[in-house]
Amino acid sequence: MLSKEKTREAIRLMAEMFPDAHGELVHENAFQLLIAVILSAQATDVSVNKATPGLFQAFPTPEALAEAPLEAIIDKIRTIGLYRNKAKNIKACAQMLLDDFAGEVPKTREELMRLPGVGRKTANVVMGDAFGVPAIAVDTHVERVSKRLRICKLNANVLEVEETLMRKLPEETWVDTHHTMIFFGRYHCTARAPKCESCPLLSLCQDGKERMRARQGK
Ligand code: SF4
Repeated sequence: MLSKEKTREAIRLMAEMFPDAHGELVHENAFQLLIAVILSAQATDVSVNKATPGLFQAFPTPEALAEAPLEAIIDKIRTIGLYRNKAKNIKACAQMLLDDFAGEVPKTREELMRLPGVGRKTANVVMGDAFGVPAIAVDTHVERVSKRLRICKLNANVLEVEETLMRKLPEETWVDTHHTMIFFGRYHCTARAPKCESCPLLSLCQDGKERMRARQGK
């Protein structure tokens, strides 16, 4: 397992490679971010960003979205995977915002996770990106990169990955680290073809060293 110091060194090197890492879901306020993150489950940010301008233009507020006919919402998001279920969730989510939170997006994880379609990862993204509350959302990239670098155990579940990262990294860096690791995983340490041969983290990375040995042994 990578020590706390080496984990911080690894994140620092990733941040040098991707100094402008940021959330890629287009939004103008916490409500739009919440809806976009719900829509992004098992879908790409690009596909969500194509659909949300039309969705938010038609239904710009929790009131409008809660009152919208389900078919009208489906019509706006049918290019996104799992659109039927997501349409039900965002309509119900808007209704709960009105019923339980005076139409405002709540700031705590517990409250956010009561909303339809919102799991821990979505809650963490909204906390961090909408409100600056320290949180690390573990998506597929964060999990893969954490495991390849042995920041966490290979058999760790998503919650254990999150807890390990929180234990090893200073709280004030959690939100930025989440974005840095996503960019690093999306554009460099990719699932199918990690660029180990040009990776500044190779000396820290057991997985990368094994891959390089295997390639040279061919
Ligand atoms: S050496 Fe390879 S596996 Fe390790 S972090 Fe770099 S790209 Fe990913």
